[in-house]
Amino acid sequence: MSASSDTSLPGGASVPSDAGVDSSAVSLDTRVSALLTNKRRVSALKSLGIVTVGDAVTYYPFRVVDPVPLRTLSGIVPGQASACVVTVVESRVRPMSSRRGWRLEVSVVDARPGVAPVTGPMATLVFFSGKRPYIAWMEQRLHDGSTVVIRGMAGTFNADLQFVHPDVDVVADSASLDGVVERVTRPRPVYHANSRISAEHLHETILQLLSRVDGTGVPDRIPEPILESRGFPHRREALAMVHDPASVEDFHRAIGALRYEEALVSQIAVLRQREQARAGRTFVCGNRSMVEGYLKALPFSLTDGQRRVIDVIARDMASGHPMRRLLQGEVGSGKTVVALAAMLQAVGSGHQAVLVAPTQVLAGQHVRSLRRMIDDAGLDVPIHLVTGGMRLARRRRVLAAVASGEPALIVATHAVFSRTFQAPDVAVVVIDEQHRFGVEQRGSLGRDCEGRRPHLLVMTATPIPRTAAMTWFGDLDVSELTELPQGRRPVTTVVVREEDGATMARMFAHVRARIDAGERAYVVCPRIDDDQGVRASSGNSAEVEDDDGFEEPYADVESSADGEANHDDGGRDGGRPPLHAVRQMADRLASLPQFAGIDIVTLTGRDDDATKDAVMARFASGEAPLLVSTTVIEVGVDVPQASCIVVFDADRFGLSQLHQLRGRVGRGGTPAWAFLISRADPGSVAERRLDVVRATMDGARIASADLEMRGAGDVVGDAQSGLRSGFKLLRVVADAQTIRDARKDAERLLDDDPGLESHVQLAGAVVDFSRASETALLGA
Ligand code: ADP
Ligand code: MG
Repeated sequence: MSASSDTSLPGGASVPSDAGVDSSAVSLDTRVSALLTNKRRVSALKSLGIVTVGDAVTYYPFRVVDPVPLRTLSGIVPGQASACVVTVVESRVRPMSSRRGWRLEVSVVDARPGVAPVTGPMATLVFFSGKRPYIAWMEQRLHDGSTVVIRGMAGTFNADLQFVHPDVDVVADSASLDGVVERVTRPRPVYHANSRISAEHLHETILQLLSRVDGTGVPDRIPEPILESRGFPHRREALAMVHDPASVEDFHRAIGALRYEEALVSQIAVLRQREQARAGRTFVCGNRSMVEGYLKALPFSLTDGQRRVIDVIARDMASGHPMRRLLQGEVGSGKTVVALAAMLQAVGSGHQAVLVAPTQVLAGQHVRSLRRMIDDAGLDVPIHLVTGGMRLARRRRVLAAVASGEPALIVATHAVFSRTFQAPDVAVVVIDEQHRFGVEQRGSLGRDCEGRRPHLLVMTATPIPRTAAMTWFGDLDVSELTELPQGRRPVTTVVVREEDGATMARMFAHVRARIDAGERAYVVCPRIDDDQGVRASSGNSAEVEDDDGFEEPYADVESSADGEANHDDGGRDGGRPPLHAVRQMADRLASLPQFAGIDIVTLTGRDDDATKDAVMARFASGEAPLLVSTTVIEVGVDVPQASCIVVFDADRFGLSQLHQLRGRVGRGGTPAWAFLISRADPGSVAERRLDVVRATMDGARIASADLEMRGAGDVVGDAQSGLRSGFKLLRVVADAQTIRDARKDAERLLDDDPGLESHVQLAGAVVDFSRASETALLGA
């Protein structure tokens, strides 16, 4: 390790390498506050989530910079990065003419240690800043005569060699020169830092802390035979190779090993969860008479897929082993019908059934459609709606009814995750549109009910890549609905450039014509108000649904995962006009001649429950046939007469999200249209993305295109991208092969040694991993 003791380095000053701490006692659990004397540094680290030595050494760089060759100034090739040892001969500060700020110019020549600089090639280092103190500090560091190691790419300016903002390391004395040169010419890991600590200081601190723990302090988790067969370094060595790589290959080899370690730990955790889940006692729901009555009364015949899945679920629920099933089905494939069959099997067998919906709107709609189907079948089953926004008195009444344990269908939003929700006899939990929930949240519903574990059915319309499913839902069996019910037509999808006024006008006229024909139309905008902070960006959910919080709000899920990941293509373009907002759009549409005499309603996550219900009722009945809303209508909303959807700023939505939105129309057998309004530049990635949605109705194709063009996190929601699941390196899609390998190894390890008794370190890591998921669940 070259953990530097050279205090002239950017970050070296505050971490004495010998602080009089008994280094034999240092382990990964040691708090950094016990080792670092600089309290500000300790609190800066804490702001990055680094509290222990273990946190620090697993604070991984997000990339590594190639090493650069050491050259003399005369050997420099403009346009290539290189490092040089130079001596400062002159410096000057000038106010910048065009902008406010200062420019520091430093003339340097090749350093010949011990010899005063005389002649030879010169170069100029240039630093700009609006901050005078920064310039002053830099000027003072680069005073005449100082020896400096610079690193950067040289250009030429008026035939002069020029380095703009090179990295500089001031060499305190000739003895430390070799160390600095070696460090500068090695590959350099790059870290995410923040305003309280620079990437360089962070790196320095990590190296210092890592040097305090030896191999016994960092025991291996991956069993020795696997390390050997896969050619992985030991854990302590891997960490050193990541934070202080001798070569770029070493860096990647070590990252590969650490990634594999995460995959192995998580796969073992998942396999064990599955084992435990299956071993538990559960409800035996053998009475199918209610289900059969209901299926007979349906006004349509089931698709083959629906029939098959309903049969499998029937067997699961009667088997005596807890069902754990993921149902994936294209938008409109009829998952609700399947869910109700499962729920009625529980109720018909004398128990309760819970359906959890991601939004208030969807929960309300589920209640209405379940009510209709149940009434049509002539069944007498109570349905309770439990949501966060309910008035206290009503909520108390409903909660009391639910707590009595009488057989019933219970439809709920996140409220169901609250502690005041008590349903003593729940035999099945159905979670609708799983991709809107954090992974961990479903865990709490797997809680035992009086010693018995409810059956679990998780439904999603977002096709989840196989390895992602293996990682997040590895403990679930998977069923699929691949066909759409008869009579459903593909939605005609048109991409419209917003600046094309003539086409926009024709589109509005078309929407009006459909409304006059008795149909309904949605208009979707990414924001609620003009004055609201921009939120839509590229996220999976353009609007934060924050009103279903009840007592333990999970609304922060979307915003918490920002940061490093390559969230979108091309960054936020500062010059673009603000994204469209619901309120302003409603006003604008109301003033258009095309919508004269039409009642327009709006719906956003900010509306209270009663308003939402009233708005949806007016829209569904056709009294107000034009609904302007945020993405609150994204999933599951089912108004059969709706035939048109217009999505503004479509280029800012995720592809799967657009596909979901498009799934809101054409549900009643009439032709349907989706208009994706774009302000993307012609030929841009954003425009090509929209073309994917236009060209296919295949949700799986769209999801994989989305994956290619973005990152996994965006397709299934950041909450599931791993950030909250204890993964620091593992990417569930990009690392598919690693996950598959780890899965095989995990199965073999558990077969040979179910208790992992000869793999104590690995067993401990698995427990930590599982506990981390639980902690995230409790919102700690
Ligand atoms: P999703 O899978 O997207 O949740 P839904 O369960 O909301 O789909 O069903 C979409 C629509 O299709 C509903 O109006 C539902 O009544 C209808 N539907 C479901 N199954 C069938 C079927 N087998 N034949 C015809 N219509 C069906
Ligand atoms: Mg649905």
